[in-house]
Amino acid sequence: MRRFRKMMISGLAAAAAVLMLAGTAFADGVIIAPGVTIPSHNQETMGPGPGGPGAGSAPVQETAADQGTVQQPEQPAVQNPAAPAETPVPAADPAAQQPAPETPAQQTQAGAGTDEASLIAQSLQNQYTIYPTSDPNIVISRGRKIDVTKPLLALTYDDGPQTAAGNRIIDMFDKYGQRATFFMVGDRVPSRAAEVQRMVADGHEVANHTYSHTYLNKVGAETIQSQVRKCNDVIEQTCGIRPRIMRLPGGNKNDTVIANVAMPIILWNVDTRDWDHRNVSKTVSAIMGKVKSGDVVLMHELYDATASATEQVVPALVEQGFQLVTVSELAALKGVDLAAHKIYYSF
Ligand SMILES: [Zn+2]
Repeated sequence: MRRFRKMMISGLAAAAAVLMLAGTAFADGVIIAPGVTIPSHNQETMGPGPGGPGAGSAPVQETAADQGTVQQPEQPAVQNPAAPAETPVPAADPAAQQPAPETPAQQTQAGAGTDEASLIAQSLQNQYTIYPTSDPNIVISRGRKIDVTKPLLALTYDDGPQTAAGNRIIDMFDKYGQRATFFMVGDRVPSRAAEVQRMVADGHEVANHTYSHTYLNKVGAETIQSQVRKCNDVIEQTCGIRPRIMRLPGGNKNDTVIANVAMPIILWNVDTRDWDHRNVSKTVSAIMGKVKSGDVVLMHELYDATASATEQVVPALVEQGFQLVTVSELAALKGVDLAAHKIYYSF
């Protein structure tokens, strides 16, 4: 036990020392690079601009995508009147600042690989924490190792859970040890609880896409807040993880929306238009050769064609050296401290 503790301390100290030399420190469970500011393309305001999801046809696109799938109005399947107000800014995670606690397994299994294995297991339990290792280029997050020197990309899937395509998508990410983000509609969660629980168990990020896919620019402050809160409530009640990021249905926003969505708002900078063409090769070609480190790719969990495209792009991107990470991981690893009431397109 003593030897293990010494290894842990020395390993973390070495990692911290290297990271300090690199101008990086750990805080609040994420990696923060002092002096790094959010890139200018992460607009906090809404002005529709060229290529921006709020501009042009993006909202219309998702509007069309969702026709036939959105069921409104609906009776909440789960209500939690006692739910606290949204506090979406990730709170400090003590685990991020503490050496990993020793467990009986760790104490009885001395050896170089043991602490890494336990950290990997621990990271799957604490999904918003990124753990340093003795190698400054390697961190552990969501049950696997990430090389921070390699390209990082977030593939995101909206409008689920939708188990048929969803499980195919998860299968593919799992097969290649990669991670995805699922922006889910709350009222679709209870009937697909097993799939949502699988997302968490396999290290993927569960995220908020409102309770009933409401276009928040069409409703008032109270409804905006309840749509966001109820979605977080039902996801947390289903899988034990409360989302920390959300995506606006249709990308539709205005000042009232931004003022009342007390979570980081994640949009996208690569739109596959998968809902529109529902064509495998078009979805693949929208991604391959078009993406770079820090991008956020929009897809939809609803379509078999999107699942088929995922089966092509995941191995192809991995072959090209991309590491597919969750949005929260991408932000943290790019040194962006996500904040409520702010909109992010890429990192
Ligand atoms: Zn949507």
